[in-house]
Amino acid sequence: MAAIHETWAWRKLRPTILLRDHWCCQMCGVVLRKGRKHRFSAVVDHIRPYDLRPDLVLDPANLWSVCRDCHDRECRRIEDKARKVRQWTFRGADWIAEEKRRYRFVGLDGSASGPGAVTDRA
Ligand SMILES: [Zn+2]
Repeated sequence: MAAIHETWAWRKLRPTILLRDHWCCQMCGVVLRKGRKHRFSAVVDHIRPYDLRPDLVLDPANLWSVCRDCHDRECRRIEDKARKVRQWTFRGADWIAEEKRRYRFVGLDGSASGPGAVTDRA
């Protein structure tokens, strides 16, 4: 369902997520960059993968800004693990969300939740 990234709705929503997250990787805290090639390029990740929860594909509470490094390493590792431990399901999407949130960066202003927190600011 890569087509979501082509839609008008996504293109409109994506920059609002980056603004909300202050162009800051929500996993490691690095300042995000524009473009796609840098290791700190901004990626707006679906916390619950969109093929498991297509209903949340445009839900801001299910989106967060991460750097390409974190996305390609941590997000991918967690999603691969979900497949292995049979959590690649509708309900398993919540398990994935909790695993990802363990990496949540605590902002200097204290606005972000601590590691392991399961609450959302949105
Ligand atoms: Zn990062």
